Amino acid sequence: MGGNSATGRIGVYPGTFDPITLGHADIIRRGSKLVDQLIIGVTTNMSKNPMFTADERIAMVRREVAALGIHNVEVVGFNALLMKFAEKQNASVILRGLRAVADFEYEYQMAGMNQQLNSSIETAFLMADVCLQPIASKLVKEIALFGGDISRFVSPVVRQDVIQRVTEMGRLGDD
Ligand code: ADP
Repeated sequence: MGGNSATGRIGVYPGTFDPITLGHADIIRRGSKLVDQLIIGVTTNMSKNPMFTADERIAMVRREVAALGIHNVEVVGFNALLMKFAEKQNASVILRGLRAVADFEYEYQMAGMNQQLNSSIETAFLMADVCLQPIASKLVKEIALFGGDISRFVSPVVRQDVIQRVTEMGRLGDD
């Protein structure tokens, strides 16, 4: 039936992760303690015009998870309705991170719609760490595009990947 053979409580943490930040990593670390297995669902939908391809984002997330030394986490790409993906993974909970008030309205609406689609899968929110809560992938990319220092927001390897991509895009140093 499902695409996942693990037993116990399975959680799905979905996102774009373009790129994965220290805020995401914190949610992964904390979320992995709440479930027996955490599936990180990396959306492969290109409509958000990401800086990194789906394969690149999946590889980056896998590398970060390995660096965190967490063993009950799996990284899977998906291009489907979130609820369908969660059902396929036999998940009973969807995990999301919540930053200040900005995320609330969208997340509240999405959780409500998902509940209508499948009421047996709960959406659970982890409050962003106070120090990491301003971090957003979108801002990380903007800062990097203008040559700013992103080392407080992403891991050193992700920082290198972002700088390299920005260089490839030929934007470094433009003003
Ligand atoms: P999406 O495209 O679904 O917004 P993101 O990769 O931006 O994907 O985010 C995935 C999840 O991680 C969302 O629940 C988002 O609220 C959460 N998140 C993003 N940045 C942070 C952060 N700094 N702290 C905690 N949670 C975060």
